[in-house]
Amino acid sequence: MTTVNRKRLAASFIELCEIDSPSQREGKISRRLQKIFTELGAVEIHEDSTAEATGSECGNLVIRFAGQGAKKGEDGFFLSCHMDTVEPADGVRVVRNEDIFTSAGDTILGGDDKSGIAAIIELLMLLRENGADHPPIEIVLTVCEEMGLVGATHLAPERIQSAYGYALDSSGIDRVIVGAPAASKFAITVTGRAAHAGLAPERGVSALQLAVRALGELAVGRLDEESTRNFGVIEGGVAFNIIPESVVIHGEVRSHNAEKFAAYTEEIHHAFNTAIEGWHPDEYTEDVKPRYDFQQLAGYPALRLDMASPVIDRIRRAADVIGRELEYVVAGGGSDANIFFGKGLPTAIVATGMSKVHTTEEELDLNDLVSLVELLYSLATV
Ligand SMILES: [Zn+2]
Repeated sequence: MTTVNRKRLAASFIELCEIDSPSQREGKISRRLQKIFTELGAVEIHEDSTAEATGSECGNLVIRFAGQGAKKGEDGFFLSCHMDTVEPADGVRVVRNEDIFTSAGDTILGGDDKSGIAAIIELLMLLRENGADHPPIEIVLTVCEEMGLVGATHLAPERIQSAYGYALDSSGIDRVIVGAPAASKFAITVTGRAAHAGLAPERGVSALQLAVRALGELAVGRLDEESTRNFGVIEGGVAFNIIPESVVIHGEVRSHNAEKFAAYTEEIHHAFNTAIEGWHPDEYTEDVKPRYDFQQLAGYPALRLDMASPVIDRIRRAADVIGRELEYVVAGGGSDANIFFGKGLPTAIVATGMSKVHTTEEELDLNDLVSLVELLYSLATV
């Protein structure tokens, strides 16, 4: 095992946290990281041209380090992190109390995900200092992850040469996330026809009534041990005496199983179709065609890693070498790893020690960050 330079790692983590980088404003941290990775000897730094599509100041970065020594020609892997943070993130100041880092209290810390980036920088410094043999390593740094995995969604997977990788982006330590659910958020708009409810009710077609019929056919909550469905918001109508012309329903489906995910989504279409086809016009409503529109607002595919696959095998061996016990878990949320997996790149999510993320109480223990670097070093040299 190598000796991590704690002082350098702490300084680098603080520096990154204090470069504000809320989603879409990653330009400054991207420039700083390109400089750092250039100095570390990257053979290629590619900024993709997705800024227009993501609305960010810059693109995603794919950075390549050549292999060294006896492992030079071996197949490598990628490490990924996101450069953006949630807000409040203006004027982040890091407070250090012994080994614990927090913000000054008025912003997030940004350890999500700068803990991962700082660990990668320290890893590359150690590999170089020690002249260690390692395979090629790619660093993938995305924008706009916190907005709904937007940067990763636009990233062209052909840019990444490695067959698999590790997203350093989860709380806890010595935890590896090997599964995460598919999810979609959507809005369904049902349209009928408005009419005065007292004077001309015959002329109206209630969108609310149609929506209720459809929703009445659909189970919600936990649908099975790996799937959930919810309709969280319904809005529509304009007055108590007007038949509602349109209602909008916001909902979501999640499942760890791709087939079930598709089936539960299809059930929604079926229920709304049936409700609309079950409606029949009469002499007053012959010219009305009620309808529904399903608009996908966000979504990502399920992540499900095979425990016998090379991505898990490598990290298992890496942990064994340094006598580390890793916990392999299935998580409830989505991350860039879901997107990479959906693009054919198996990606395990590795905990970085970040905690209380997305709050102004966010904190990080330097000892956890050191232990992450040790694990990464073993991953690179195993
Ligand atoms: Zn994150």
